[in-house]
Amino acid sequence: MNEPLEITLKTLTPLWTGGVETGRMDRVHETGILGSLRWWYEVVVRGLGGSACDPTGHSCLYDPDKPNQGICDVCRLFGATGWRRRFRLAINDADVQDTWSGGAINVKPPDRNRGWYLPAGQMGGLRLQIVADEKIKAQVLALLQFVERHGNFGARPQLGYGLCQIEKVSNDPVASYDWSVLVGSGRVDSRLPDLRTFTFFTLTFEPERGDWWRDVPGVGALARDNRYRGTVDALLRRGLIPITPALKNVLRYGAQWSSGALPHHFFGTLRGEERRRGRIGLSWAYRLPDSALWQMRGWAYPPQTGESQQREVAQRLQAVLGKPETWLQSLNIRYRQAEAAIAPMGAFFQPLSTAQAQQFMHESAIVEVQG
Ligand SMILES: [Zn+2]
Repeated sequence: MNEPLEITLKTLTPLWTGGVETGRMDRVHETGILGSLRWWYEVVVRGLGGSACDPTGHSCLYDPDKPNQGICDVCRLFGATGWRRRFRLAINDADVQDTWSGGAINVKPPDRNRGWYLPAGQMGGLRLQIVADEKIKAQVLALLQFVERHGNFGARPQLGYGLCQIEKVSNDPVASYDWSVLVGSGRVDSRLPDLRTFTFFTLTFEPERGDWWRDVPGVGALARDNRYRGTVDALLRRGLIPITPALKNVLRYGAQWSSGALPHHFFGTLRGEERRRGRIGLSWAYRLPDSALWQMRGWAYPPQTGESQQREVAQRLQAVLGKPETWLQSLNIRYRQAEAAIAPMGAFFQPLSTAQAQQFMHESAIVEVQG
């Protein structure tokens, strides 16, 4: 019998999937998880040269008379008008709780007026159940493994929400998924996120002191603010420090840009009616289980600008995130040891070939899962 694939995820940073009330999350919404999986799948499919429509532009429409029935590789798995999604997802969130009780916190590096607002979101363990045939189960599992390793589940990835670890996989598919079936001849279109121009980065460090976070701009102030006393206690218990605002602040405001529009293109903005999504995601710092080590992680892809401005952004990222010492200095963190990793290449935005993207996906699938 074809049992549903079951995956237990454990959150490393708060998960956000929206809620009925704005600013509060009532439960883990399947649509929020599906939305993020679809977004990452688009990134991967484009990176392999496959076809991925832009859902903000037009969506695919099933038409039996058209080539591939008018359905792109992404809609083929996730569904489109007239074509159902190839799997069912159910989520059990019984082991998930609010990260802290109360509303959003305002993290404000000293030189900012407004700062960043971070809602509590939820943390804990969640069980995903995927009902599909064997082949689709393998495909979804491969996608989940990629997102676990490099991406985010749920919404607000730019603010570091939704890093999760796969704790357990039950009823695994018989064979693993082969990404090469998606390989096509599509070229990089800089309007849309494409794995071939993505860069992923990770920093692991051992801080010098237990209360290292007090020196991080905007974070130490939280502990001195009476409104946030309970929140800070909850964060420390969870081994979680919201360093994302401080790091964004350094990257964005710590440099002179050749044009005022460039940081808006890259970091995202809300200008008038237009909302532009940031092209960089930076996680919070999280303590590794049973260890003195902390970690933070992120990804970026180039802004939709000319090449010289893309290079400018790449140089800025390299200057701060390229070495553990510059990365940690920018956050005021004193450390004993640290290691930074940048993938798939050692430099930002280096375009991969489709074959290299395929190799990268293959490596993402090799993960240790405790059964
Ligand atoms: Zn489509």
